[in-house]
Amino acid sequence: MNNREVICLQMNTYVPYVLFTNVNFIKFNFVNTKKETSLETLLNWHKINYEKQLFGRYIHVSLILKLLENLPPEFEVIQRGFSVEKRPIHSVTIGTGKTKILLWSQMHGNESTTTKALFDLFKAFQNSSELSIFKDILSSCTLCIIPILNPDGAAAYTRVNANSIDLNRDAQHKSQPESVLLWEIYKEFAPNFCFNLHGQRTIFGFEDTGTPSILSFLAPSADAERSITLSRKRSMQVIAHIHKELSPYLSENIGLYDDGFNIHCTGDTFQANKTPTILFEAGHFPNDYDREITRQYVFMAIVAALENTMSTTSSIDEQLYLSIPVHQKCYCDILFKNSLDGDVGIQFVEKLTRNNIEFVPEFSSEETTSSMFGHRVIDASGVEIKKLLSEKLIGKPDIRHLTLDDGRTITL
Ligand SMILES: [Zn+2]
Repeated sequence: MNNREVICLQMNTYVPYVLFTNVNFIKFNFVNTKKETSLETLLNWHKINYEKQLFGRYIHVSLILKLLENLPPEFEVIQRGFSVEKRPIHSVTIGTGKTKILLWSQMHGNESTTTKALFDLFKAFQNSSELSIFKDILSSCTLCIIPILNPDGAAAYTRVNANSIDLNRDAQHKSQPESVLLWEIYKEFAPNFCFNLHGQRTIFGFEDTGTPSILSFLAPSADAERSITLSRKRSMQVIAHIHKELSPYLSENIGLYDDGFNIHCTGDTFQANKTPTILFEAGHFPNDYDREITRQYVFMAIVAALENTMSTTSSIDEQLYLSIPVHQKCYCDILFKNSLDGDVGIQFVEKLTRNNIEFVPEFSSEETTSSMFGHRVIDASGVEIKKLLSEKLIGKPDIRHLTLDDGRTITL
């Protein structure tokens, strides 16, 4: 059974495009470790040992408090302050090495996949004797981790904080307590690297290959000229390393974000401050709306990144970063193809209902183009789809079934 078959079985569904190339696992090893840990070993370790108390998309502070309390003494857990609505914000420090790395997740409250991967990392460090890479990271690095920087947004399942401020545009003004707290930790900890952990919508993919963007990265610019400063070069090397390690699994599913400079963004500010900063974006694996499969890849990407940061220099060519494609907004959740109106897409809106995230199909009458791809594709030949979607979906968030002109009933 090859890797793709394993993943398809796990998803219990058909993957409509080739996501994986054949993998010769023997070849892919983390380098520079005393005893090498293969990526396959790491993935298998994760499948068994991930933090099972965190699942799905709705991850908030009350879910993680118990897990933080139960961490063993080698984890230094500190309540660093409070959000606008007085929810606690914690940091977790672990490791004894000299490379200092600051990681924060859920700066956008509804981007929780990377938080799950961080708790998987805590499990890894609690069982560090099991794989040499975990031990090596702990002896080479000291990690300061903020699992949920925006606990109010996490509770309400919103991108913004309780004052409706996007914390990732508040790096200069620092108008919010969460922004002040991150800045204080940054100044106090003085990291050698920053990992800025986010999640991206289902809309991203690659027009050339028609594949979705499952993971994406950015070495933020440090100035308007997008210069490759020393710090930015080092960020590019980390991402190039992640790409090299994960591309056997996600050969056509790793992308870059646009590197336009915005000093109000946290990554750009830290990069301008000469701290190599890496933006991680957890994306959409087909049918994995809970993002449990993406979580595995985020975990692997963080471990690969840490492996590369264990030494302050890296021999990997930053040009490899520049060869990673920039992704585009070219995907929708469901694409009705070949209808009398052409190809028409609908997008799910994530809605918090009774402690659960619902995916509500929403139709916008905006034109979709022929370059649009769908995570799910439905043949709508001969159907007047726009009229049907307008009648059935606009203003009706509870509709989950559609009957097409030809009598087929589609579950959304
Ligand atoms: Zn984000």
